[in-house]
Amino acid sequence: MTSPRLKDRTSTDLLVVHCSATGSADIGKREITQWHLKRGFVTIGYHYVIRRDGTLETGRRESELGAHAVGHNHNSIGICMVGGVDAKGKPADNFQKAQWDTLRVLLSQLKARYSSARIVGHRDLSPDLNRDGKVTPNEFTKACPSFDISAWLKKNPL
Ligand SMILES: [Zn+2]
Repeated sequence: MTSPRLKDRTSTDLLVVHCSATGSADIGKREITQWHLKRGFVTIGYHYVIRRDGTLETGRRESELGAHAVGHNHNSIGICMVGGVDAKGKPADNFQKAQWDTLRVLLSQLKARYSSARIVGHRDLSPDLNRDGKVTPNEFTKACPSFDISAWLKKNPL
């Protein structure tokens, strides 16, 4: 499949980490592309996918406009970790060591290219309802990516 040529972003201020909201299934770019085509996207919405075994797959070209975070696509890169829900479909931090290793390498490389970009989880982009300058768990409108990326970065500096 040849990917359509998409518009480029003008800036990159955010690196947004998502999950696929799947369980332990070994899915990746191919499956996610099918879901996104069904939703009417021209191709997969993310720039990168990290499979359960840590394999990195490229979705949209890194310079292209993504479709992964409403209101933030014009200035962000979207990374999807495969997993993120338990057998009952509830949000769960069930990612594998190989995935964390790949995430760390990818984020380090992206930070080298976009040094001022902020690393956030999708849920951290929920509206700050009480306008106190931070988005707290009671304000999350979604669970994605099912883990606290700032806590992870503190424990695992790039
Ligand atoms: Zn998401």
